[in-house]
Amino acid sequence: MEEVNRYRQQLDLVLEAAGFDLWENDLGDGRVTRRADKVLGELGYRDGDVATCIDGIFSLVHPDDVEALRDALQRHVDGSAAQYRAEFRLRAKSGEWIWYANFGRIVDRDGAARRLLGVTFNIDSSKRRELELSRMNARLAEQNAQLEKLNATLRELATSDPLTGIANRRKLLAVGERELQRALRLGHPLSLLIVDIDDFKQVNDTWGHLNGDRMIRAVAALCAGSVRASVDTAGRIGGEEFAIVLPEIGNHDARALAERLRGAIRAQPVALDGGAVMCRTVSIGVATLADGCASFIDLLGRADAALYAAKSSGKDCVRVLDGAPPPRRRDDEGAPLAAD
Ligand code: GH3
Ligand code: MG
Ligand code: MG
Repeated sequence: MEEVNRYRQQLDLVLEAAGFDLWENDLGDGRVTRRADKVLGELGYRDGDVATCIDGIFSLVHPDDVEALRDALQRHVDGSAAQYRAEFRLRAKSGEWIWYANFGRIVDRDGAARRLLGVTFNIDSSKRRELELSRMNARLAEQNAQLEKLNATLRELATSDPLTGIANRRKLLAVGERELQRALRLGHPLSLLIVDIDDFKQVNDTWGHLNGDRMIRAVAALCAGSVRASVDTAGRIGGEEFAIVLPEIGNHDARALAERLRGAIRAQPVALDGGAVMCRTVSIGVATLADGCASFIDLLGRADAALYAAKSSGKDCVRVLDGAPPPRRRDDEGAPLAAD
């Protein structure tokens, strides 16, 4: 007896130090044979406030936690979990919800489960911190997703032409230089088209600037629509002038593409304000990577010279640069140099 008392004292000490409250249930008849009185006291209940049956204790559990609690218990009863563990909220007498955890085990499993022995302990502050942390993480993930979207929009804005939505000059020069260096390294072909609307000044003068913009947008769309997606790059290099970078395309195919594009543009009626339509022609200069091209600016100079030849021979045509590269007509920014 003395020894039993000593064990009890030792057990009480361990439970108190660990903040555990011991309970015991009879799973056969559903009675609570030892109640977690310390927990009930902590929640503000006195003897008689809570029925001494398992269902009475369950009536204090937060409705959102009941199912998980019953599942955890069932998993242990049917032997699929070695212990019964659960986290749940209990309603204090004041109405407040407080987080607790249960740890238990059936102690005399003789065929049918009967005595379930366990401890309950308060996990309220750590659970609240954990929940707050996961809420913060969710918020952070949401903000990161928004930031990523904004960055994508900014990247798009930094590289696209606001009037037409196709690549801007900056993007074109960057892509062109990258493709040129790649073509030089691998010894592959690379072509460049420069497309310039003929007598565009007249469009503005006759139909107004806004209709001029419509024409620019229509030509940009035809340029972009005539190339291979994610291989070629069509962009606006300025005013009514466009460039198309064509990796892996040689002289012959580039000329054919330019001819098709020229035909498509001259056949495309553009709707004007007030219901009228207009058609315009373009001149196209074609250049292909050749000896003497060390940078994209060199290739641009060749295509520009071809365009100049197209304009000089009456416009609405395609010209391909043959022979030695001409002197540069553009500065490093891609802007035309003074007339030569
Ligand atoms: P050419 O056949 O020799 O190319 O003659 P052009 O009239 O097309 O060429 P020019 O360089 O003389 O005129 C281009 C005009 O394009 C002048 C400029 O006002 C106009 N322009 C430049 N940017 C824009 C723009 O964003 N919108 C509109 N509507 N017009 C523009
Ligand atoms: Mg023009
Ligand atoms: Mg021009």
